[in-house]
Amino acid sequence: MFPTPVIGLLGGGQLGQMLCEAAAPLNVPIAVLDADDAPAKQVNRNTHHVAGSFKEASKIRELAANSDVLTVEIEHIDTAVLEELATAAKAVPVHPSWKTLRLVQNKYEQKEYFASKGLPVAEQMAIESGTGMRTSMEQAAASYGYPFMLKARKDSYDGRGNFKVSSPEDLAAAESEFGHVACYAEKWVPFVMELSVMVIRTESDSAPGVTKKLLPYPVVETVHEDNICSYVYMPPRGLSGERLAQISDMAQAVACRVIDQLWGRGVFAVELFLTADDRILVNEIAPRPHNSGHLTIEAIPYMSQFKAQLTAILDRPLPAALEPHVASALMINVLGGATADAHVPLLEAAQATFAKGLGVYVHMYGKEAKPSRKIGHITLTGTTMSIAELEASAAQLIELAKTIRE
Ligand code: ATP
Ligand code: MG
Ligand code: MG
Repeated sequence: MFPTPVIGLLGGGQLGQMLCEAAAPLNVPIAVLDADDAPAKQVNRNTHHVAGSFKEASKIRELAANSDVLTVEIEHIDTAVLEELATAAKAVPVHPSWKTLRLVQNKYEQKEYFASKGLPVAEQMAIESGTGMRTSMEQAAASYGYPFMLKARKDSYDGRGNFKVSSPEDLAAAESEFGHVACYAEKWVPFVMELSVMVIRTESDSAPGVTKKLLPYPVVETVHEDNICSYVYMPPRGLSGERLAQISDMAQAVACRVIDQLWGRGVFAVELFLTADDRILVNEIAPRPHNSGHLTIEAIPYMSQFKAQLTAILDRPLPAALEPHVASALMINVLGGATADAHVPLLEAAQATFAKGLGVYVHMYGKEAKPSRKIGHITLTGTTMSIAELEASAAQLIELAKTIRE
C-alpha cells in the first residue's frame, strides 16, 4: 500500500500530467481516470489507474473505490456522481467541492452568482434557444450594441463556445451555429489587458470553524489569439512601480473575493479583464490548475500551481506568501499547426536559446499534434531581467509560435 492518501484524478491530459510530475517527488500517489495512453498516465505508472472516460458514472465510481480523495483536471463532468460519492455513508471527499464544479460548469449561472455577491462581471443576459433565438439576440443587440459576445453556457473551452456578433449580418450565422445549445449574451468588454490570478484555497468543509485561507499568486497578463491563450507574462507588460503594485493588489483582491464564494480546497484560476478606466471585471474562473499558472513551475518552484493543488487537497502546510524566485517569466503555448511537425522549428529554436540570466524550459505533453491543439508549452525566466527584456530575448520564439498558427 501507499504511505500517503491516493488522489483520484478525473481526466489525464496535460494538467493531470503536470500534477503527476509534481506528485512523484512528494511520494503522493495519483490514480488517473482516462484512456491508457493519456498524457498523465505516460509519466505515472501504478496499479490504481482506471481506463475509460470521466464521462462515465461507473468509471468515476471505480476510481473512487481506488482513491481516498477525488479531484479533477476539467470542470465539464457529471457532478451528480461526485455529489453521491461525497455525501455517501462511506464518503470519498471531492476537492474542489462538487458544488463549485456544478456552479462553474455553467458560465451563465457562474456569473449570475458572482454578480449576486456584488462581484464585478460583464453584463450578461439569457438568450432563448430555438425559434425565439433571433428576437432574443436582437434584444441583446439593442441593450449592448455591436459587437456583443454570444456564449454557450456549458462545455466551452479555448473559445469554442464563443461567437462574436459584430453586426446584424452575423445574426443568421450565430443562429445556425448556436441555435441548438443553451446560450447567453455578454456585453463586449473593450479591455486594455487580460489578467489572471491563481488562488490557493484551503478549507475543511466537513469541519465547521476551520479557518479558510486564500493565497493568491502574483498577477499575470494573458494574451489570447483566436480565443486561445497563446502567451502569459509575469509581471504584466507596460506596468511598473506604483501602478503595477496598484493593479496587482486590485486584481488579487478581486480574485480572492471571487474564490471566497466557492466551496472546497484546491487551486483556482480567476480570468480578469482590465478596462481603460482601471476597472477589473471577472471573465470566468477555472476550479483547477490553469494555463495561466504553468509558469509557476519554474518561477515559484517551491509551490508551483500543481504542488499547490496537492498541498491544498491533502491539507498540508502552505507558505505565508507566494514570491517568485525570478524577476520575470513568460510562457509560450505550443499549438499544433497545419502539419504534424509545424511546431518543430519552435522547439528547436527554444532548445538553442541561451543567454546569461535566462532560463528556457520546454514542456511537451505527449499529445498528437492537431491544428490549434495545445500540445506543449515553453517557459522563459529572467533572473534579473524586466518583462520587457525577457520578451525581447524571446522575440524569435514568439515569432515562430505565430508562424505555426498561420
Ligand atoms: P477557456 O479556455 O479560458 O475556458 P472559454 O471557451 O471559456 O475559454 P472565454 O474565457 O469566455 O472562453 O473567452 C475566451 C476569450 O475571448 C477571453 O479570454 C477574451 O479574450 C475573449 N472574450 C470573452 N468574453 C469577452 C467579452 N465579453 N468581451 C471581449 N472579449 C471577450
Ligand atoms: Mg472557460
Ligand atoms: Mg476563459
